[in-house]
Amino acid sequence: MSSATQSTILTFEDARHLIEQHAANLRPHGRELLDLLEANGRALAEPITADRDFPPFRRATRDGYAVRAADLAAVPTTLEVVAEAKAGGALVPPIVSGQAVSIMTGAPVPDGADAIVMVELTSRAGNRVEVQRTINPGDNIVPVGAEGKKGDVMLAPGMRLDYAAIGVAAAVGLSRLVVYSRPRIAVLSTGDEVVDIDVPPGPNQIRNSNSYSLAIQITQAGGEPVLLPIAPDEPNRLHELLREGLEGDLLLIAGGVSMGKYDLVEEVLSELEAEFFFTGAQIQPGKPVVFGAVPLGAGAHESSASHKYFLGLPGNPISTMVCFELFARPLVEALAGMQERKLSFVYAKLKTEIKTKLGLKRFLPANLLGEFEDSEVELVKWQGSGDLGAVARSNCYIVIPPDRERIPAGEFVPVLLR
Ligand code: AMP
Ligand code: MG
Repeated sequence: MSSATQSTILTFEDARHLIEQHAANLRPHGRELLDLLEANGRALAEPITADRDFPPFRRATRDGYAVRAADLAAVPTTLEVVAEAKAGGALVPPIVSGQAVSIMTGAPVPDGADAIVMVELTSRAGNRVEVQRTINPGDNIVPVGAEGKKGDVMLAPGMRLDYAAIGVAAAVGLSRLVVYSRPRIAVLSTGDEVVDIDVPPGPNQIRNSNSYSLAIQITQAGGEPVLLPIAPDEPNRLHELLREGLEGDLLLIAGGVSMGKYDLVEEVLSELEAEFFFTGAQIQPGKPVVFGAVPLGAGAHESSASHKYFLGLPGNPISTMVCFELFARPLVEALAGMQERKLSFVYAKLKTEIKTKLGLKRFLPANLLGEFEDSEVELVKWQGSGDLGAVARSNCYIVIPPDRERIPAGEFVPVLLR
């Protein structure tokens, strides 16, 4: 911990782990009941339990014939086809030795049968079927309850609901789900040069893109963005807006955290008695990223938390975005009630050599190209961490360790998907 005057610059891994440790203490503050299709992207607040066995009957996984494996000890052999079992059709009576039932994928296997012979391994003539191959008991049958027994927890609280999880909810008959409430994430963009998107910018001004890209990242992480007015590089108004931002569950500040004369965020946060857990990370883009917390006065807030977290993200648009993914997302997700998700990379073959400088872990905009097993990854040309268009046209970031000056084409490199 340090004050704004001391600097604490961590490696990427240390900074990330520190964020994860703090995130582990964060809890969502409410729950709500949502229609199933509204619940996508939210965190489950109550377990989803199996309302019956899955599958509820012995399920055939192939089109073919339900048989007794012992009847096929010597092949070829001919069996009598006594019935047909289709998915959703009437239940078929038990079979005895010498009999078979023509069966379709998804149908209940009749009692007496213990395996399904694939139709491709048989030849049929009238009510006789000749089977060419032996089979083991249990082949091509899913036993009752093999995927889940009645009462089993299928999905635990904290599960991030996606299409597969929504599918599970539907399969157990839930048309509504109890999910955690979305945390309110305040976004404060700073800078005298920054104007909002409905204001014509002067020749020395730029439009506020950060509040909008952050709002989408927050939404994707399960939060509800609360966009504050743009803060000027002036301590009094900045102080006022930071206080307002600290009313949210988490405050994200974009800009004003670098070493410039008008980068006032840390100074003004210090006036609010902020503790700084780190004031920089050895990364590019995003080196000046700041993480800390402000103590809450007694009774200042109805929540039981004793302090409120903030993250100061460097204002360059790519720095802002990358720092959100690396550092803000775990905090937002924890406040949204989601189980922790470790940052993980996929590996892809580098298409074109990379040369860079030592010392920082880099997350550089790139494209995964190619198809099937022949995917390759390549850096996009960009003008540095202000080049928003370059990132918008890319689909991932190549991660370059701090100790590599040159990575040859053909090497497998870690990639952070976007
Ligand atoms: P700062 O981190 O305040 O030094 O800003 C770094 C760069 O990011 C400057 O070029 C700013 O003009 C730019 N920038 C800061 N805030 C925003 C914003 N909200 N939207 C777009 N660009 C910004
Ligand atoms: Mg600034």
